[in-house]
Amino acid sequence: MARFTDKVVLITGGGSGLGRATAVRLAEEGARLALVDVSEAGLADTLAALPGGTEAHTVVADVSKDEDVDRYVTETVAKFGRIDGFFNNAGIEGKQNLTEDFTSAEFDRVVAINLRGVFLGLERVLKVMREQGSGYVVNTASVGGIRGIGNQSGYAAAKHGVVGLTRNSAIEYGQYGIRVNAIAPGAIWTPMVENSMKQLDPENPRKAAEEFIQVNPTKRYGEAHEIAAVVAFLLSDDASYINATVVPIDGGQSAKY
Ligand code: NAD
Repeated sequence: MARFTDKVVLITGGGSGLGRATAVRLAEEGARLALVDVSEAGLADTLAALPGGTEAHTVVADVSKDEDVDRYVTETVAKFGRIDGFFNNAGIEGKQNLTEDFTSAEFDRVVAINLRGVFLGLERVLKVMREQGSGYVVNTASVGGIRGIGNQSGYAAAKHGVVGLTRNSAIEYGQYGIRVNAIAPGAIWTPMVENSMKQLDPENPRKAAEEFIQVNPTKRYGEAHEIAAVVAFLLSDDASYINATVVPIDGGQSAKY
């Protein structure tokens, strides 16, 4: 039997990249989906990519806003009655700059979405899961949450914070049958990474991308479906004794930094 038959999975950042690939993977395994994103167009494209017959509900919401998070959780429970899996994934890359040039406004913007947004999701969804007595969570951190990369004050602070939130909530909620883990993707080819390359070299982002990946032992970018496979594992009963971990999915890159 498919691992996610009758399971309800909530995905933030479901309108692109890793969120979309995970939505497709979970739907292929039978999940019913609640998909959250600021981009209505992105959500529509994800719906179009899902296998026919998938039960999916979309919510246009900003994960950094309390009232939007209330709404996406309330709508998911109203529609499906429960939340079995939560992929707490929405995020932005932020500007790349030396710390002295980063600006506090940009720091606040990145942390609001990448860290506060993850906390707000945990705050609401863990309550639902505790009341139902089960549930699995995967938060999206980054290699930039377990190693220093440079020029990313806001992103580094937020993603290290996501690792902290993961460990904290995992040890709190393990007793309620809830597991909380994080993934630490390396360079995965999505619109976010394409934007980062445009920042590195606006004239020739393709060249920047080729140079950037040379640090990776595999000499290639990861693909979103390679993240989706691991998220599906962590959100399934196959990972029943994995809790509070941070799983690098990076072709070995984090071993080198
Ligand atoms: P992406 O840009 O393709 O997708 C991110 C999605 O999040 C977009 O659909 C965007 O509209 C949405 N989003 C942005 N701000 C939002 C907000 N405030 N509220 C709701 N939705 C919002 O990027 P991706 O590569 O799929 O990134 C997904 C996650 O993976 C992010 O947290 C990112 O930091 C993390 N990550 C990505 C990589 C990579 O190489 N692609 C590496 C490490 C970590």
